[in-house]
Amino acid sequence: MYLYTCHQCRTQASARRTDRAASEDDQQDHRDAAHGGHAPLDGDGIRRVHHPARGDGILPRHSCLAALVLLALVLHSCWAR
Ligand SMILES: [Zn+2]
Repeated sequence: MYLYTCHQCRTQASARRTDRAASEDDQQDHRDAAHGGHAPLDGDGIRRVHHPARGDGILPRHSCLAALVLLALVLHSCWAR
């Protein structure tokens, strides 16, 4: 995933893009709107980013569900005795 960031405005695109070309469109849109079509002096750029964190940010959603099911099974086996 790609994310456009403008260092001069200290801002970034509102959405992460799956392809670099879409992020380059974000870059040009921002340059047109905020800098009159010019490149900002303090720089801007497109960087690769990870997918946004899901759930608690530690485990992917499916791993979190699997952990909860496992915990429920362990607790159930404890209480069943
Ligand atoms: Zn800017």
